[in-house]
Amino acid sequence: MMDLLALTLAGHTPDKSHGENATLHWQWLEEGVLELSPQSGYRQAVVLSAGIHGNETAPIELLNRLVIEIFTGVRPLAVRLLVVLGNPPAMRADKRYLASDMNRMFGGRYSQFSPSDETARAQRLEQVICNFFAGERATRFHLDLHTAIRESYLPRFGILPCQPEPYSADMLALLDAAELDAMVIHRAPGGTFSHFSSEQAHAASCTLELGKARPFGHNDLQQFAGINRALQALVSALPLPPRQQEPMRVFRVEQSLIKRSEAFKLYLSDDTANFTALPQGTLLCEQPGESYRVKHENEWILFPNPNVAVGLRAGMMLTEVPRSTLFSE
Ligand SMILES: [Zn+2]
Repeated sequence: MMDLLALTLAGHTPDKSHGENATLHWQWLEEGVLELSPQSGYRQAVVLSAGIHGNETAPIELLNRLVIEIFTGVRPLAVRLLVVLGNPPAMRADKRYLASDMNRMFGGRYSQFSPSDETARAQRLEQVICNFFAGERATRFHLDLHTAIRESYLPRFGILPCQPEPYSADMLALLDAAELDAMVIHRAPGGTFSHFSSEQAHAASCTLELGKARPFGHNDLQQFAGINRALQALVSALPLPPRQQEPMRVFRVEQSLIKRSEAFKLYLSDDTANFTALPQGTLLCEQPGESYRVKHENEWILFPNPNVAVGLRAGMMLTEVPRSTLFSE
């Protein structure tokens, strides 16, 4: 049995760093990072990560339960699997991060931040991802699981990294089965974990926002039933559960609102929900020498936050696009 979450929260390492049973081989690579390989063949190599933001508890608990079920044999392992709990010190402190947001640091961007445990961890996680996928000929997946701080008109959504290749139809089928409400297509590179694994390891990757988080032990995991069923099917290479709700909506980022000055003003209330629709012409933000008004007939705001550090993104403006956009960009 391997209780990855309990070990990680306690700051413990397991007595042995690796082991095996009749069906799998496991290896504790470092704090909060566990690799599981089936004894039989596999067709997919899958990274599942959570806790890059330490207080986003529900997906961490979800992944931990999946690991326990794999170890106890409740769920057969049919993929090569890397489970990553991203930021253990922040998880222990129930904080999003301690020094700086790790999900801005990947792709070497950690060097632009003051050195901290988090810059060191981001650098090591990059290495872990590269090692895991090195020479791997199976299909490569990475899902980075998050929960949002604010309310959202579309509560469950995925954010696809900007990449030159079309998005993976297999991954989108998985996300359909996970009952996501929407997908958002990035159109510029970024420092997210999922962008890194797309760009550097050529994995089909996605950041998933799965609802609102509560402290450990207080999550209504029922809220996460869709993603849970999809991940269970994924790790056991079983047919995906059929989607029950209406089709996913697809958006793309038209504009990132970058805070370039301490004088940056965002004209939205602090509790503005994700996917709030804003009419054409609305003045959204201003800073010296620059302002942004809604350009298209309909635009939606995602992650509005004027309190980010100068140089970082204070929000994203989206337009809705046909699903075929996913395969034609
Ligand atoms: Zn997050």
